[in-house]
Parts: sequence; structure tokens; C-alpha cells
Amino acid sequence: MTTQADIDALRRETIAPQALFIDGAQLTGTAEPMAVTSPIDGSALTTIANATSAEADLAVASARAAFTDGRWSRLAPAARKKTLFAIADAIEADALALSVLGIRDNGTEFGMAYKAEAGSAAATFRYYAESVDKIPGEIAPTAPGTLGLVHHEPVGVVGAIIPWNFPLMIGAWKIAPALAAGNSIVVKPAETASLSLLRLAEIAAGAGLPAGVLNVITGDGRVAGDALARSMDVDVLAFTGSGMTGRKLLEASAQSNLKRVYLELGGKSPNVVFADAPDLDKAAAVSAAGIFRNAGQVCVAGSRLLVERSIHDDFVAALKTHAEAFKVGDPLDLTTQIGAVNSETQLAGNLRLTEAAISDGADCITGGKRILEQTGGSYMAPTILTGVTPTNTVFRNEVFGPVLAVTPFDSEDHAVALANDSDLGLAAGVWTANLSRAHRMIGAINAGVVHVNTYGGPDNTVPLTGHKQSGNGSDKSLHALDKYTNLKTAWIQL
Ligand code: ADP
Repeated sequence: MTTQADIDALRRETIAPQALFIDGAQLTGTAEPMAVTSPIDGSALTTIANATSAEADLAVASARAAFTDGRWSRLAPAARKKTLFAIADAIEADALALSVLGIRDNGTEFGMAYKAEAGSAAATFRYYAESVDKIPGEIAPTAPGTLGLVHHEPVGVVGAIIPWNFPLMIGAWKIAPALAAGNSIVVKPAETASLSLLRLAEIAAGAGLPAGVLNVITGDGRVAGDALARSMDVDVLAFTGSGMTGRKLLEASAQSNLKRVYLELGGKSPNVVFADAPDLDKAAAVSAAGIFRNAGQVCVAGSRLLVERSIHDDFVAALKTHAEAFKVGDPLDLTTQIGAVNSETQLAGNLRLTEAAISDGADCITGGKRILEQTGGSYMAPTILTGVTPTNTVFRNEVFGPVLAVTPFDSEDHAVALANDSDLGLAAGVWTANLSRAHRMIGAINAGVVHVNTYGGPDNTVPLTGHKQSGNGSDKSLHALDKYTNLKTAWIQL
């Protein structure tokens, strides 16, 4: 059981200036380092290296050399499995320190980060460790006299560009299956959440992952990330982040070696509450958590509440009560329910999009403002905007903050039309006791995951797949391995 005293001891530790992690060793960057500011209180935490494109190339070369000489790629699957299990165990052993380090960097409340970051990363390494020797190739049903064999091969060098909201969880979603399949990888964390992934690289090395197989380059995405995207020697790029950056990565691929680019670009996910929901109190509590936890910085957050008009006023009143009851504040205080917004830039964007929604005609019934400014940190009150119509900017634009847009609907068809009136299609929620309606809605909503009578829930067994402009390819589940493998046919005349 973690105590406040354990956390407080860890949060006082000084963090040394961080180097790049290339070829199993720390490499001091040549460019001016970037300052790391804690969103908890605005204090200077440390610095990270600002990788140049030459240093990114060095990381790719190290990954390529490791792949080519087979120190990982040609190990027996059972040996890779053993190391991946050892990494999972080591993450778990270090979970508290890893979580506190990550929270000081990115601001997620402890209750969520401990489970969803270190806990989830360990589980993800374990999940893919178990997969390593359970995916056989195929013998094709060819005519007599010929033999068709289908092999799954690692692609080679994977580049992974990671966002700041859940660096360890999302990082592990890409790193673990890529490694399980036998690839080498270069990871580029976000500028405002690099520390825990740098620590993960050290942990993996300590657990026996050979040098060069996992490299981490930090710094400006427009330089280090762009270098990965343009590299002629990266075979697959896996990305989670903004649509704008996703588009740049596709262009960079087209302008370089046509590397496969997998994108997860967030959502504007509809959470549809029918009057016949089995438990409206539960629906309100879960819907509030589904948009406000981690200050709304969750790609699947249910940021558009579509609610049947007959229950609109009562449901919104219940949500408002939940929103105002959340304890927002220091994410390392065990009683806090919602932590900091990741950065001042992100907070300014949240406030700007909220203002735009209000000038487009929405009513802000709670929140809408910065709070706890005296702490020096970046905090925003949970915000509910009602009367949001499809012409309002907040109906379409992902805020990626604690901002809920509410729109009433009059019929199931109307709900479906509103739900699908978006360029994005990552997640959705449906609250109804009517089984037939639940299945109709699952079929009708164009999104990668549809929750029914719940919202969210981390589990590696199911894929997370963006539809429409939310992306392509899947994180999690055995399907994720497809991203990091090539099929090869052997056609043999007997
Ligand atoms: P957000 O707006 O949520 O910060 P971004 O898409 O800007 O999302 O950032 C997600 C990740 O993409 C970060 O690791 C960031 O450094 C990286 N990144 C940002 N711009 C580029 C770029 N032009 N090329 C490659 N990576 C980038």
C-alpha cells in the first residue's frame, strides 16, 4: 500500500540532466538542452537533450546494426520472451518511482498514473512476452507437388513517436509488440513527458535487452521526430498524437522511403445517453470520470455528451454535481482526483477553445477557467458546455482538456446522426437497457471502440483502432503485431 510519505520522499529527489539513450548508453546531446518544467507547480525539474537529426540518425543506425547482427531479431522466441518478462518484472519493481517521476513531468493524478502508466506498461510487456512463441506461420493449401509456407518476419527498425498524456502506457503499446516480433526500435517521447520513457530504456537494459535494440531520443518533435519520419532506414513509424503531426508524418514517408505509418490521432468521442439507461446515476458518474480524469487528456475521452432530450436537464444537473465535487490539484497528493494540465501551452489552448465555444453560442454551466494559479501549476476546472450544436467549433475540435460539450437528441436516428457527424472516429459510449438498441448503436456508430453501459477500461486483449481521421492500425491485442511484421511466402517445388 503506497503511503503519502513514500510519494513525498520520491518527489523531493533531484533529477539529473538527461542524456539520449543510444546503443545501450547515455549520450550527451550536442544541442542546447531543453528545460523540463513541472506542471504541478511550474518548477524547473531538469533538462532533456534536444536531439539533432544527426543524433536521430545515430539512434537509427544503432537500431539497424542490432537488427542486422541478430542479437535480438534472431534470438529464439523463448529467449526474447524471457527478457520481455524480465522487463515487465523490473517495471513493476520500480513502479512507484517510475510513476512519481512521470507525474512530476506530465501532471497525471497518481491514482490514474500508477495503474495506467507503470501498471499497464508491465502488463503490456507481459502480454506480448506471452505472444512471442504462440503465433505460428502457415502451410498453404497448395496443390500436391508444391509447398507454400507463410512466415511472419520482423520489419527491421521501428520508429515510435509518443505523446505526453500516457507516455509509458502508449509507449509500451508500441515498444512491447515491436520487440516481441524481433524488431529494433527508436522511441521519440514528447517534449513534456520524456523522463519515464528514458527510465524505461535503462530498466530494459538492466533486464537484459541487448544494446541498440531500444533507443530513446528526446527533444523537439519537429527535429528529432521529423528525422525519424524522413529516415531512409526506418521501416515502420508508429505514432500517437495530433492530426496535424500525423499528416506531416505521412508526407515525410512519401518524401522518403514510403515507410508504413500507423497513426492514432485522438477523437471527439460521442457518449450517448438514452432515457432508458439502466442506471442514470451510474451513467452520470462514469461519464463524468470518462471526460474529466487526467484533466481530459485521454484520447478516448467521451468529450461529446449526446443526451436524450427528456432527461437532459436532470442528467446535466447530475454531471455538474460530479464535476464540481472532483478534487482538482497536486497530482501527487493521494486525495487528488484530477491532476494538472500537461503544460501552460495546453492550458492556454483549452481556455481558448472554451472561449470560442461560448462565443459560438454554448453556455458554460461550470468551470471554464484556470484554477489554483497560486500554486504556480497548470490547472483547469472541469468544464461543462451546454447547448452545443453541430455548428459550434467545440462539437468538432478535440480540446484534449477537461471540457465536455453537451447536445440533446430526440430519437435514436438523431443520436446516430449526431454521433457520426465528425471527421474522427476513435471511441463512443452508449447507455441503454435495450439490448437490441445497444447492438443497433454498436453497428451504426463509426468508431474503433463502442462502450455499452460503461466508459473506458484498460485491457490488452482488445484492439484500439482509429476509424476515419482518428487513424489506422491497432494498438493492443495480437492485432498490433501485424504492424511490426511482414509476411513472407516461400514457394517450394517438391
Ligand atoms: P500534441 O499537440 O498533443 O502535443 P503532437 O502531435 O504535437 O501532439 O505531439 C505528439 C508527438 O509528436 C510528440 O512526441 C512530438 O514531439 C512529436 N512531433 C511533433 N511535431 C512533429 C513533427 N513535425 N514530426 C515528427 N514528430 C513530431
